[in-house]
Amino acid sequence: MIRVRFAPSPTGLLHIGNARMAVFNWLFAKRHKGAFILRIEDTDVARSEKRFMTQLIEDLHWLGLTWQEGPDVGGQHGPYLQSERLHIYNDICQKFLKEGIAYRCYCTPEELEERRQIAKLTGKPPRYDNRCRTLTDTQKNAFETSGLSFTIRFKVPDELVTFDDLIRGTCQFDMSLTGDFVIMRSDGTPSFHFAVAVDDTLMNITHVIRGEDHLSNTPNHILLFHALKQKPPQFAHLSLTMGADRTLLSKRHGAFSISEYRKLGYLPEGLLNYMMLLGWSLKDKKEKFMIGDIIDTFEISSMSKSASVFDQQKLDWLSGQYIRETDLERLTNLSIPYLQTAGFISTDETKIDRSKLKIILDAIRSNISCLSQIVREVDIFFKDVVISDSHVEFLSSETSQSILSTFYINLQKLNTLSPDIFKEVLKTVQKETKVNGKGLYMPIRIALTGREHGPELYSIANILGINTCRKRIERFLSMCRNFK
Ligand code: GLU
Repeated sequence: MIRVRFAPSPTGLLHIGNARMAVFNWLFAKRHKGAFILRIEDTDVARSEKRFMTQLIEDLHWLGLTWQEGPDVGGQHGPYLQSERLHIYNDICQKFLKEGIAYRCYCTPEELEERRQIAKLTGKPPRYDNRCRTLTDTQKNAFETSGLSFTIRFKVPDELVTFDDLIRGTCQFDMSLTGDFVIMRSDGTPSFHFAVAVDDTLMNITHVIRGEDHLSNTPNHILLFHALKQKPPQFAHLSLTMGADRTLLSKRHGAFSISEYRKLGYLPEGLLNYMMLLGWSLKDKKEKFMIGDIIDTFEISSMSKSASVFDQQKLDWLSGQYIRETDLERLTNLSIPYLQTAGFISTDETKIDRSKLKIILDAIRSNISCLSQIVREVDIFFKDVVISDSHVEFLSSETSQSILSTFYINLQKLNTLSPDIFKEVLKTVQKETKVNGKGLYMPIRIALTGREHGPELYSIANILGINTCRKRIERFLSMCRNFK
């Protein structure tokens, strides 16, 4: 059975670039009816925080991802937090020492740094010179009795490591250029390489799907798999995501963490769809799809070798599509908190006029790409219109005045203002003033909303109701009179 894992380090909020790795692992597991495992790589005690782990689990669930094994759901190969597996790493490390494939290194961080600097100055690669590999017994005893702390290093054999990456093809590394690397730090915690190889072995991981930034770590891991007498998994290194300026994606490019996107009110299905487009595409280039549409055809080998570029505008477009299509009941439920926070509707759910709210949301949903934008779109229905000086000036022109007064006179003859009635009124105003198109509806739009853009005028009038429409036009007419 195919087994893949997503192995984040909980040192910050889950970012779109990293979440994308989770998405492709999950997709691959689904495609091959395998297991998707969540493992938390929290051995960097200084930087790892529990709150980040809780948040990332919540964010992944929000995106719709589920896993068969993980810290929150358990499983046969746990624990799934590396900080709870220290005894496992320690036992294996002791075994490596006994087998003579690892050794204690007494070089201090200062000495290592000094040698790195010298190597740099003399143009040599800054790798470890393996000097503790060949310590004599007398030297070892001297270090031991002096109480010096030590790390444990793995003896890197002088060989070529070759593997077939599912995306990148054959990759080869000459290990004679690599120094012996640390597998256990002096504080008894495992190095990243060691913990990954041990866990991937014990968790029977068959495919390692991760970012290209880990490609150069893979030969170290392969050597460790050999030492663990485990057939290495298959590797697929995904290209990374860049900003438009071709530097690694970050907040600077307008990309947010998953939890921030969530707070802004992006729909999870839109964000998920967008992440699947980063480095992968359907043959027909169709951009809007759900996992169900691609599950039978997704091939990891067809993923792009070159970096994908994050495009906030495309994400907004896609997200807007999902908002347009989602069930109105769901849209209403999801929008309520935003409207409550803005103070537009009651915090007491029983006092909310849901049917009116639905009409409002349906009228504005095509103008937004995330739910927090609702507030700026609907304020025209909940607040008095703010009219700018330039609009007063525009509406004070003779044509605007004649349109607004004709419109107002016609409103006075009515008791209600349904979309159809509104369209009729508009026709009448058009006939009487001989103005049509933008020239006709812009003064009315600005007088009713204070804005030049927004939902269809007939739905605005319908939602506001005849009395509010009258009041807003009256206010405008008198303002413009004063302006003159
Ligand atoms: N903890 C590593 C990271 O967050 C993952 C390493 C791996 O997937 O092997 O980059």
